[in-house]
Amino acid sequence: MEQADKMANLEKEQTFLMMKPDGVVRGLTGEVIKRIERCGLKIVALKMFWATRDQIDEHYPKSEAWLNRIGEKTKVNYDKYGLDIKTLGTENNKEIGLMVRGWLLDYLTSAPMVKMVIEGPHAVDLVRKMAGNTIPAQAEMGTIRGDFSVDSAAFANRDKRAIFNIIHASETPEEASHEIDFWFGPEDIHEYEKVEENTYKFVKRG
Ligand code: GDP
Ligand code: MG
Repeated sequence: MEQADKMANLEKEQTFLMMKPDGVVRGLTGEVIKRIERCGLKIVALKMFWATRDQIDEHYPKSEAWLNRIGEKTKVNYDKYGLDIKTLGTENNKEIGLMVRGWLLDYLTSAPMVKMVIEGPHAVDLVRKMAGNTIPAQAEMGTIRGDFSVDSAAFANRDKRAIFNIIHASETPEEASHEIDFWFGPEDIHEYEKVEENTYKFVKRG
């Protein structure tokens, strides 16, 4: 890809953010939207919906790499807090990953969610930064998960459920592209200018 095309892609990078059921039932949708808008990113699609298990099954990757990564992350956390991974019934990364994947189907179909597409320079990294670490205790204060969630991988695993952490946000531009295409049609995504985009133009001209 040419340098100019790469720049243009970065300027209008899109990411996918979803309020998870705990975020919606705790009335945090407005808080999350406020934070996105406050930093200057643009919401270009938005909808409340109640997902089916099949939809969530399509949403999360099924690849061996993804399952192994979730399993590995879980193990690292068990070690960190001196807990015994054997209590999970398996030490195999892929099997742990599959377990968590199943719990995600229960979690994300338990109440309505709010899905959105967010656009702007480095939208993927910015929204991940705003979301904070997957595990609430490791999410910095000032992030959505750090400010609004209290949960632990170990407790969640003990209770056979996913970690409750308010939102989902795409981790890479490739993941964002898959998720946006899956959850929205082209007619749902809007193109418009925010007022500050005009300000940037004015500054450039000056
Ligand atoms: P995210 O991109 O930060 O949401 O994290 P991942 O893609 O690694 O995991 C997807 C979701 O699975 C997380 O947001 C959690 O809800 C859940 N999850 C991740 N790791 C674990 C875990 O070790 N145990 C449990 N119970 N849930 C997990
Ligand atoms: Mg993820």
